[in-house]
Order: sequence, then structure tokens, then C-alpha cells
Amino acid sequence: MMKMDFDIQNIFITKHTDYKGFKIRFRINQQQYILLVGKTSEIFPLSLIHSFNEREKCKPCNKLVFPSNISQQVCPFLFNRKRELLAYFQENCAELFPE
Ligand SMILES: [Zn+2]
Repeated sequence: MMKMDFDIQNIFITKHTDYKGFKIRFRINQQQYILLVGKTSEIFPLSLIHSFNEREKCKPCNKLVFPSNISQQVCPFLFNRKRELLAYFQENCAELFPE
């Protein structure tokens, strides 16, 4: 089984409402992120953003992040690992992807 070098928790996957694809919400160190995924014949990662409720520093990338209702900021650290993260979700929680 594929492992990441950080703990991923609270994984919740919904269909994206604006385009064909998914929104994968998850937490690392109690901080929430969203991996945006597109779907054609296969699925592929598009972006990775912070989804914080209040202004705080992101532990993985060290950036000061604003609440997600104010801005959508990419997490550069996790963005660089978006393919690895998507592979992790596909391998470990395939049953969470909606039809
Ligand atoms: Zn970050």
C-alpha cells in the first residue's frame, strides 16, 4: 500500500459542480486542503488549494493563508505533490469517489 510521509485524514470526495471532476477535501495536521481533479477518460490533478477557516500559517508550505471564503491560495508544497496525492487517494479510497 502506498504511504505518504505525512498523515492524511478526514478525506471527503464530492463531484465538482462547475466542471467534470472532483473536489477531494482532506486534512493534514488539522489543516484542510482541497485537491481539484478533472475527469475525461481518466482523472488528473488540476490544483491544490488551502481551505482554512481562519488566517493561519500552513505547516507544509509555511505561507500565511487567508480564510478560503476570502481567497483561494495554492499550497505550493502540496501542489508539487498533487500527482502523488491523487494516486494515494485512488489507491487508498477508491470507494469514496462518487459515480
Ligand atoms: Zn500550504
